[in-house]
Amino acid sequence: MNPKILLSSPHMGGNELKYIQQAFKENWVAPLGPNVNGFEEDLEKYLGNESSVTAMSSGTAALHLALVMLNIGTGDEVFCQSMTFAASANPIRYVGATPVFIDSEEETWNMCPEALGEALAKRASHGSLPKAVIVVHLYGMPAKMDELTAVCEEYGVPLLEDAAEALGSTYKGLKCGTFGKMAILSFNGNKIITTSGGGALVTKDPALKKKSIFLSTQARDAAAHYEHTQIGYNYRLSNISAGIGRGQMEVLDERVAARRRNHAFYADLFGEAEGIEVLTEPNEDYFSNHWLSAILIDPDKAGFSRETLRHKLLHMGIESRPLWKPMHMQPVFKGADFIGSGVSEALFADGLCMPSGSNLGEAEHARIAEAVQSVMKQAV
Ligand SMILES: *Cc1c(COP(=O)(O)O)cnc(C)c1O
Repeated sequence: MNPKILLSSPHMGGNELKYIQQAFKENWVAPLGPNVNGFEEDLEKYLGNESSVTAMSSGTAALHLALVMLNIGTGDEVFCQSMTFAASANPIRYVGATPVFIDSEEETWNMCPEALGEALAKRASHGSLPKAVIVVHLYGMPAKMDELTAVCEEYGVPLLEDAAEALGSTYKGLKCGTFGKMAILSFNGNKIITTSGGGALVTKDPALKKKSIFLSTQARDAAAHYEHTQIGYNYRLSNISAGIGRGQMEVLDERVAARRRNHAFYADLFGEAEGIEVLTEPNEDYFSNHWLSAILIDPDKAGFSRETLRHKLLHMGIESRPLWKPMHMQPVFKGADFIGSGVSEALFADGLCMPSGSNLGEAEHARIAEAVQSVMKQAV
């Protein structure tokens, strides 16, 4: 029996253990130490564009702190891309604020600038703007940053970037995660690089980096005893996890190249098929890390549905997953406001994420191709 092909699994580079062993040797087994600082420097250098990075225990924690640092709380609204993973929206509720979900556009599947403009105009006419807008680069595909930034600037609302899935992606030559007032990254086990669990806050403002370190290490004031004037959090990344991150940074470019090879494989596999679209960069301004390769199946034209393909793959030991279910359709966010025309709902109905790990080789591609081709042959 062939081993199962997973959607996206961890892929070590080789030097991770070296950094961990160094941490043990020096007894830096704590949520601080040389690996934490080194990992942050690696990320700052990689991202460029004047980035300051704070390593945290998760991307979700980083987003939570971003909202805390913007003083967002009860009675405030935060706009969030509806087509995303729940971790983009949950922190809005952690701080007691109200999420408003914004629809996607069809080219990148990310936040639609027109829907955002419409939503902001509506709120402005009532004199109550949201405190932030959370834009996501879903599956690694950069969102329409020029248009979204312009709309946010017009209304003076800070833009936060959820770049959890987009480390290595660029828009007009600049790295995703360096556009917003603040951005977050994730190093969860399924992401393009992993620290087994971890995340980061990215900002151009060194004062915000300093503040985020303070808040993520229990908000301890300068005193010999423990003194606190603010509520703190225990959100810093451990020096052991950061050691994995340093090893992973050495192979990040290779991981991006491997994920992009997967995408090229799918573009070729589905290239001729009628009614199947592979999510692809709209033009040269966009460079996706193709963290996950995703497709849309029009069942009338293709002759089979997303679910037919998903079940066939599953039967052959290959994991795939429907596109992320939009937040405005989630039971937990029932009753939340949604602005848009239903693009994200249509994507969810027909979209599928294909296996996209950087450790997939020719043998795995051949198995996937066999499964896909058998479904296409039986299409009616
Ligand atoms: C993974 C992910 C997160 C959360 O990151 P964690 O490190 O797992 O907390 C947030 N947003 C998106 C879009 C993600 O895919």
